Amino acid sequence: MSAALQRPVPRPGVLQIEAYVPGKSAAAPGVTKIHKLSSNETPLGASPLAKAAFAAVGQKLELYPDGSSTLLRQAIGQKFGLDPARLICGSGSDEILSLLTNAFVGPGDEGLYSEYGFLVYKIAILAAGGTPVVAMERDFRTDVDAMIGALTPRTKIVYLANPNNPTGTYIPFDEVKRLHAALPPHVLLVLDAAYAEYVRRNDYASGLELVATSENVVMTRTFSKIYGLANLRLGWMYGPEAVVDAVNRIRGPFNVNGAAIAAGVAAINDQAHVDAAVAHNDAWLPVLTEQIAALGIRVTPSVGNFLLLHFDGAKGKTAKAADAFLASRGIIVRAVGAYGLPDALRVTIGDAEANRLVVETLTAFMQAA
Ligand SMILES: *Cc1c(COP(=O)(O)O)cnc(C)c1O
Repeated sequence: MSAALQRPVPRPGVLQIEAYVPGKSAAAPGVTKIHKLSSNETPLGASPLAKAAFAAVGQKLELYPDGSSTLLRQAIGQKFGLDPARLICGSGSDEILSLLTNAFVGPGDEGLYSEYGFLVYKIAILAAGGTPVVAMERDFRTDVDAMIGALTPRTKIVYLANPNNPTGTYIPFDEVKRLHAALPPHVLLVLDAAYAEYVRRNDYASGLELVATSENVVMTRTFSKIYGLANLRLGWMYGPEAVVDAVNRIRGPFNVNGAAIAAGVAAINDQAHVDAAVAHNDAWLPVLTEQIAALGIRVTPSVGNFLLLHFDGAKGKTAKAADAFLASRGIIVRAVGAYGLPDALRVTIGDAEANRLVVETLTAFMQAA
């Protein structure tokens, strides 16, 4: 008989989780204005229509929200041409990722993702009692052959952030389909399309078509990025009927609050606001990529609203030193050591003032003796 436990002990896997550390938001001492470029938030803010809808809910705080987010699922369904019955809303897509994992992964099962894949996948797998498996990337891009090679009879779920965070790279839809074709039918493919709206590539697709035509693919989306509602925690998924049914059984009955539902409906119907955000990103992404690369900093080509910068460490030009230098001038960026990228920093594309300051500050950093 094993010794009696002296206190409650979490299930195996729980204590293996290294808590997710969000992007910093505090200013360095003495800095008056800060530019938070550490969490891929939009510099345009939320739609004014979403803010008004949010404020109106403040008059009805005593009421429970609609537990099935009906109006929001209808609005999303109308926008994307999807059956609302196959949509689920969540408290951020993070909640949906963990619900999916809890529904399909247990002890002895493996969850697969790529080397620099979004960290929430690993946390969700461990929390569900499963085993995380990592497939190496090539040039900071998901390598579909490596993903296929890492499948085992125990694989239950495969996550693909496309585009990926923190790398900003994507794989063409043909490659997504090749990965899907290699999966046994019982393996769930989760396409995390958090940055889909920003992508301007003809060979990219978020995965709606694959979900519609398969039994084992889901797509997750978020209101945190281009819609500017990160503070409200709102995301959604589109999936096959049986997957939707499983997730609906385990989700909290009121997992999305009423303010998020109302703001989400307004946000998804404000296409002009989304278009403005896309135009802003299209204008700055190439400019920042080029200007930062010209300083001798390697920039991974991104299709998202952020850039991954690599510091070679020569003459003390390390990511750590750059992070401190930027922070001292009010620019908060994301260290990505937790992703196995200690020599890199992730920088969100901000407003014009922030972007100019990033280039100016990195120029000063690279020139400093
Ligand atoms: C930001 C992000 C999300 C969205 O998370 P929310 O919980 O919806 O805020 C999901 N996946 C990736 C890859 C992200 O970068």
